[in-house]
Amino acid sequence: MLFHAFLIKYAEIAIKGKNRYLFEDALVKQMRLALEPVEGDFQVIKEQGRVYVLCPEKYDFDEAVEALQRVFGIVGISPVVIYEDQGLEQTKKDVLGYMKARYPEFSGTFKVYTRRAKKSYPVPSMEVSAELGGVILDAFPGASVDVHSPELTVSVEIREKIYVYSETLPGPGGMPVGTNGKAMLLLSGGIDSPVAGYMIAKRGVKIDAVYFHAPPYTSDRAKQKVVDLARLVARYSGPIRLHVVNFTDIQLYIYDQCPHEELTIIMRRYMMRIAEHFAKESGCLGLITGESIGQVASQTLQSLAATNEVCTLPVYRPVIGFDKQEIVEISRKINTFETSIQPFEDCCTIFVAKHPVTKPNLNVIRKSERKLEEKIDQLMKEALENTEIIEIH
Ligand code: ATP
Ligand code: MG
Repeated sequence: MLFHAFLIKYAEIAIKGKNRYLFEDALVKQMRLALEPVEGDFQVIKEQGRVYVLCPEKYDFDEAVEALQRVFGIVGISPVVIYEDQGLEQTKKDVLGYMKARYPEFSGTFKVYTRRAKKSYPVPSMEVSAELGGVILDAFPGASVDVHSPELTVSVEIREKIYVYSETLPGPGGMPVGTNGKAMLLLSGGIDSPVAGYMIAKRGVKIDAVYFHAPPYTSDRAKQKVVDLARLVARYSGPIRLHVVNFTDIQLYIYDQCPHEELTIIMRRYMMRIAEHFAKESGCLGLITGESIGQVASQTLQSLAATNEVCTLPVYRPVIGFDKQEIVEISRKINTFETSIQPFEDCCTIFVAKHPVTKPNLNVIRKSERKLEEKIDQLMKEALENTEIIEIH
């Protein structure tokens, strides 16, 4: 069956007054972005409290639906067939044609729900529903009406034309990206951080990202993997500005000056400082990491407290209470898993000590960092200046 449009359902309860317009405008914008790569001229329109996609004459249905299923804020997607309004008698024939094409063997309970958006339409909506229901009953001997919990609801919207739909495909939920500010994701090549970025973007937050690499200890392939992951996250979050920071000199300097078992913690504190610098520069209101309590030595509560201490922005850790398996499930769902498990060295693992501290003492860590005083400001300055920015679409 050829569908002419998609009716978009979104959670309206939480959005009242002025917020509703912001929400809808952001939704429309994200839908346009998502549909851009799909072949054909799709029009996204906002009209009388509804958001629609008008489809071109020829398009790939699955591809269009999949694109829409990545737009946060969408709760349901109903494929619609549009008929000309040539009076109720013709509409009866059209709806019957729709039923026969879509559910040729229909038997079971149904109801017709009519919404009269065009108030000048001469017949009240209840009456339209009754007439259309009658036609369906006559044509399908196994069908019966159940207005309370029907197996099938045939929705008919009367506008300038007649919109008919009977099915709602699930959307991803959440809120449209752009309705809740922006945050900076610390994106590594692992499983967790892409999931963390996805989860925060789902709440309407626009995302930028920062990746620390350490050439020649980490390869171009490792960097490419992070770019690939950013692209996969951007399918949901929209465009991402990825900051690629060359972290080698800072890492080597810490390695030279500080006790090796503290290396990871101190390194992570510098990552946070740099991420925060770029966050503030680009108007981000928080940082995002893929940390999860207890997953590794640097993610005990003591370690997290030590890393957190250097930040003035809030740090959002959406997977903090998740087991690895739960994170893996989401990464499979958003299609980042296969990329994340590609075996490329990561800048944290290369200098890792055999026995990293798991309960860092803040005073001890601060004291170790004082050993960096001579050169660290200069190295930080160079790292910031030499950062490469990649625009991910
Ligand atoms: P992930 O699977 O997300 O890489 P992980 O289990 O490897 O996480 P860590 O290496 O301790 O855990 O990193 C914790 C978090 O710190 C990551 O989720 C990410 O947000 C950030 N992070 C770690 N390494 C980097 C890096 N090289 N560049 C940017 N962020 C990083
Ligand atoms: Mg990692």
